[in-house]
Amino acid sequence: MTRGRTLNFWAALALVPALVGCGSGVPAPSPLATQGVTDAMIAAGNGDEWLTYGGGYDEQRFSPLTQITDKNVGQLGLAWSADMDTARGQEATPLMHDGTLYVSTAWSMVKAYDAKTGALKWSFDPEVPRETLAHVCCDAVNRGVALYGNKVYVAALDGRLIAIDQKTGKQVWSTKAVPDQKNYAITGAPRIAKGKVLIGSAGAEYKARGSIAAFDAETGKELWRWHTVPGNPADGFENDAMERAAKTWAGKWWEVGGGGTVWDSITYDPASDMVYFGTGNAEPWNPDVMSRGDGDALYTSSIVALNASTGEYAWHFQETPEDRWDFDSDAQITLADLTIDGKPRRVVMHAPKNGFFYVLDARTGAFLSGKPFAMVNWAKGLDPKTGRPDILPEARYEKTGGVFIGLPGLYGAHTWHPMSFSPKTGLVYIPTNNTAMAYKAAENFEITDIGGQMGLDFGAVAMPADAKVRSDVKAATTGALMAWDPVAQKEVWRVDYPGPSNGGTLATAGNLVFQGTAGGEFRAYAADRGTPLWSFPVQTGIIAAPMTYAIDGEQYVAILAGWGGLWDIFSGVLASNSGPPRNISRLLVFKLGANGKLPPAPPMNAMVLDPPAFTGTAAQVAQGGNLFSRYCSGCHGDAAVAGAINPDLRHSGAIASADAIKSIVVDGALKHNGMVSFKSAVKPADAEAIRHYLIKRANEDKALEMAARK
Ligand code: CA
Repeated sequence: MTRGRTLNFWAALALVPALVGCGSGVPAPSPLATQGVTDAMIAAGNGDEWLTYGGGYDEQRFSPLTQITDKNVGQLGLAWSADMDTARGQEATPLMHDGTLYVSTAWSMVKAYDAKTGALKWSFDPEVPRETLAHVCCDAVNRGVALYGNKVYVAALDGRLIAIDQKTGKQVWSTKAVPDQKNYAITGAPRIAKGKVLIGSAGAEYKARGSIAAFDAETGKELWRWHTVPGNPADGFENDAMERAAKTWAGKWWEVGGGGTVWDSITYDPASDMVYFGTGNAEPWNPDVMSRGDGDALYTSSIVALNASTGEYAWHFQETPEDRWDFDSDAQITLADLTIDGKPRRVVMHAPKNGFFYVLDARTGAFLSGKPFAMVNWAKGLDPKTGRPDILPEARYEKTGGVFIGLPGLYGAHTWHPMSFSPKTGLVYIPTNNTAMAYKAAENFEITDIGGQMGLDFGAVAMPADAKVRSDVKAATTGALMAWDPVAQKEVWRVDYPGPSNGGTLATAGNLVFQGTAGGEFRAYAADRGTPLWSFPVQTGIIAAPMTYAIDGEQYVAILAGWGGLWDIFSGVLASNSGPPRNISRLLVFKLGANGKLPPAPPMNAMVLDPPAFTGTAAQVAQGGNLFSRYCSGCHGDAAVAGAINPDLRHSGAIASADAIKSIVVDGALKHNGMVSFKSAVKPADAEAIRHYLIKRANEDKALEMAARK
């Protein structure tokens, strides 16, 4: 029992003050060539095609296909594979329509393949400026495209929403979907609602005011936009919802945007014409910075429902009031019809980063139930009537001035990695993380003009702490595939993994759940019992979710493999529990009876730390650590322990030379790699402090490595 062991560990350290612990498979009528993908086709959810992000409007990621079952899945083999022309993170779920598989990859590129043979039909590159990465928290990822009519829609990292011709791969229109391209970025998949393309953005760690907007699918014209947090009251409020929200803020939050970004889930219910989406953390995290106060900071870390036609507010449910822990509520929102207390209910199911599983009434947002599905120590529990968390005083780190070891931490108990729901078993399959994070209010923190554009404006530091705490955190960090009963609000079965950030899930009517692991396997389990039935070594970590489709009577299962994203930043500290997260970006497609082979895997790079001797001062280390946390950790990892994609600077030869570090950090010598100049924020003396911090960190970890070898 991993969870039990982990709990005992934390309890022993006295760091845990409280624990709360469809379709038939019959092909749809062939659409008119001019009509393309229609609302009716998406709503019908014919199992042969996978037409929309989440598999259907309800985001259940459940397929009615039954050719591959718990009886024959052992015969599943590789039908074809395609290597991606990028080594950055891969988070997308492919879509399949009319024999073509559409997939987005890193840098918001889109590829179209013959879904049966794997032949590349076209490739689209929006040519995202590489310096965009300087204000993106978690890699140049993209989670998916949308299909409607004869077009493919992709939201590019730099904030453009782009329509592409399905047949030719040529751009039809492009529009700017965000206010500026210095603070906002887009990684999520667009959602289609009756001829409108809905998209939000990321950026709540920079200077962003969250919003969701609707665009005409034919022309790209913006139809409505709804902000998630109020702007400057002096400018007047856009609507009553903003006026009400302003009462829950203090200080001058609008000067840094306020956060609440809609960076992942956008779910649509055609029956009610409502759109549901999750919002991110308040900006800044620390309520003392900008004096944003102890109010709820609406509508951050919430689920919000709007009328999709007009963009008018319908309801909201805030999962994490006064969020200071980065508990974004952006994770996938799944709609389902459940029987609760003997009555059929249309519900919203949600498993956000904060560790509680919520069931809400989909029409009203009324709280029906909520229970922790992972380790939680920031709240005693939820009010049984309202669902409001009872926040523990020690979790308010800016008040105590001390370090708060939060469970879960900013990694989240569950975040964008898609979950699935099987109406057949009644279970939700959640890629769950047990992770911790150390929070401490930043001292003498000031928001700067460039801070929000080049660095992370937390107002709090995720403390590297000392080596012992880091290694204890690593030992306590695990992952699991959790089968959760949303009616009883309890775990039914689980499969434990050594590390977090395993892939998203797919449930099928063949009594199967598919999931890739961070450790490099694509697996199938029995959906009702969790029995492992099949696995395929993919040579790389998987974080994306699989999907399935059928052509000419054959069922296929596809997965985009490749490590990356937020987890790459922390993989050295946390996910390396799963093994070295080598990144090979590759689309893999399986069917029964196939026996394809992958090319031989490149060797793992086992790197041994060999830093120069430490010659800096304690003051330089402290200053360098703060600067690193703010400007560098977003790519190069917490405590300078990086993952598979961005360089681990403890190993960098450049840290031996003050000139080399200055030329990179200040002069931008490596800007073609996405490592742009930070000279507007980092002076040469700052770069030197960062260098001494890196040398110090490398020597600390070298000592640990040597001790471990004895
Ligand atoms: Ca966030």
